[in-house]
Amino acid sequence: MMNSAMDEINLLRQAQRHQLVVRGMGEEIDLEIGPGDDPSFTAAALVGVTGADSVGPDEHEDQKNLLLSSSEVEQQDIEMNAMPQLKKKKKVVKKWREEWADTYKWAYVAEHDSTSRIFCSVCKEYGRKHRRNPYGNEGSRNMQMSALEEHNNSLLHKEAVRLQMASKEKVQPVVEAPIYVKALLSKTAGSILESVLKRDPHEVEFVQSVQEVVHSLEPVLAKNSQYMHILERMLEPERCVVFRVPWVDDRGEMHVNRGFRVQFSQVLGPCRGGLRFHPSMNLSISKFLAFEQTLKNALSMYKLGGAGGGSDFDPKGKSESEIMRFCQSFMDELYRYLGPDQDLPAEDIGVGPREMGYLFGQYKRLSGHFQGSFTGPKIFWSGSSLRTEATGYGLVFFARLILAEMNKELKGLRCAVSGSGKIAMQVLEKLLPCGAIPITLSDSKGYLLDEEGFDYVKFSLLRDIKVQQRSLRDYLKSYPRAKYVEDGKPWTERCDLAFPCASQNEIDQSDALSLVTLGCRIIIEGANMPCTPQAVDVLRKAKVLIAPAKITGAGGVAVGELELNHEYNLMQWSVEDFENKIHDTMKQTYERSIKAACEYGMLKESPEALVHGANISAFLNLAQAMIDQGCV
Ligand code: NAP
Repeated sequence: MMNSAMDEINLLRQAQRHQLVVRGMGEEIDLEIGPGDDPSFTAAALVGVTGADSVGPDEHEDQKNLLLSSSEVEQQDIEMNAMPQLKKKKKVVKKWREEWADTYKWAYVAEHDSTSRIFCSVCKEYGRKHRRNPYGNEGSRNMQMSALEEHNNSLLHKEAVRLQMASKEKVQPVVEAPIYVKALLSKTAGSILESVLKRDPHEVEFVQSVQEVVHSLEPVLAKNSQYMHILERMLEPERCVVFRVPWVDDRGEMHVNRGFRVQFSQVLGPCRGGLRFHPSMNLSISKFLAFEQTLKNALSMYKLGGAGGGSDFDPKGKSESEIMRFCQSFMDELYRYLGPDQDLPAEDIGVGPREMGYLFGQYKRLSGHFQGSFTGPKIFWSGSSLRTEATGYGLVFFARLILAEMNKELKGLRCAVSGSGKIAMQVLEKLLPCGAIPITLSDSKGYLLDEEGFDYVKFSLLRDIKVQQRSLRDYLKSYPRAKYVEDGKPWTERCDLAFPCASQNEIDQSDALSLVTLGCRIIIEGANMPCTPQAVDVLRKAKVLIAPAKITGAGGVAVGELELNHEYNLMQWSVEDFENKIHDTMKQTYERSIKAACEYGMLKESPEALVHGANISAFLNLAQAMIDQGCV
């Protein structure tokens, strides 16, 4: 139901379609938008040069504005009307300037006949006719750019209203697969991205996560070009293992799945990172998870490398013994690459304490030692490891922390949570003592809404439902006023904060529009990369604060490290000690990220400061270690 990243942005397709053009600062670029440049635009002539029958109502409006505002233009119109139609087109070639970069993210560049032109990406996405710039080519560049910006805003607003109406009428909104090029990076950053695209053109999720990071690092690369080579090296994983996992089901039939482990970087220490068992698993997702984990770990104060992996095996509907046999076969191959000084796996989607137990049992049997338990002690809640619990709690602590920075509190705020797995349930559990009003949970088939909010009694029922692997719909038997929306996502509900805790790209552009329209101001990422790039743009534009998973997951990183190295001490800790530890870790990670953002020219208050600051701080930590260790 939720995104497939393939339906969402497909950088490769976009790049092929529009020939991804990367502009360097100061390069010349044609700013004119006109007929013949792009087949999706009408053949209407340019502002100030049209005859009455060739224009639509928008154009008339534009023309009126222009005529009212400038008599010189009027004169020019008359002169130009005398020229043949084709020659009427006027080129405005100006230098691409840094201060336009922000506005231009709403545009894309396409090349026709060796000329680069800028088009409005919103019009393109929704197949609308582009309302021409009221300033035409006559206004200053800044005027033209702000008109384009205004134009985009009005389209986005209309789209949000349309989607809202569509959802009210229970009609699935038809949103065309967006065509999107987040182009116009600086020359250096752009060429790094291009080489990643060239090397792994089909790895959509990996390219997407690299793109976000490279974008954040633009000011770092601009200041210090030696980082360019470091980044190029960093983006190539140290090791990718892909292997066959044969197993036999309860009826004696043989099956084969594919296993993955990507050890992305060990430059800071031995790898840590999740294992995911889900039918969608592939090398691209493994690489993206491993890359995100590398940065997440590098942002912490621990000496940890990053890894990710799993299998396209689906644990749903399998018996205990089938899951055990699969885990054993998976480990038969993977154990060669694991070890406390090399790599230790952790939980992710479809892998919980049960799978970790089977995996560890086989690892111990094959390696002949007990070192490097994967799971750690389970003290507080039997559904998960402490690491996973700390991740869920950390999200709520982080929400509290940034709200406190705004002199606000969680109490009384409506929170939409997605997923109903290990992370989502812990978020829900921790929201309750904070006085927040969690209103949703979801699974792969739809979402559950309780307008009155979940309380402790309802939470306990939900936990039983999940432990017994029943559908969230069963909640309605006890609370008939709640509703379960088949094939829906929680992002169509009014909320103040959103906690995406299901999967990557679960918030797409229309979800983001809906969240913005319905008043959501903060997104606390539990899932890695839960927003598509188009969604990020919508949220950024609406100044919604995004707390990236690289920061919000810091609690899990810290407790995971303690679990492995100080297991005994950890068992002596009180709940308060445990929560204080997570809280302190979140605060330090927050401060580190904000500091890095400020050092590279961002304002602390900017809604993007956290995302860019986290990427910059993690990168600099990794880069320094890579420089120290030489070309290895
Ligand atoms: P989980 O226990 O397996 O739960 C995943 C939940 O998300 C389930 O409710 C599942 O629905 C739902 N879901 C999964 N894929 C979906 C999709 N494509 N569309 C809609 N719903 C989907 O996994 P988890 O450990 O809570 O992990 C959740 C997210 O947090 C993941 O993105 C993971 O990478 C991230 N994360 C986890 C950890 C950790 O330590 N566990 C740490 C950091 C980040 P069903 O119940 O129908 O399957």
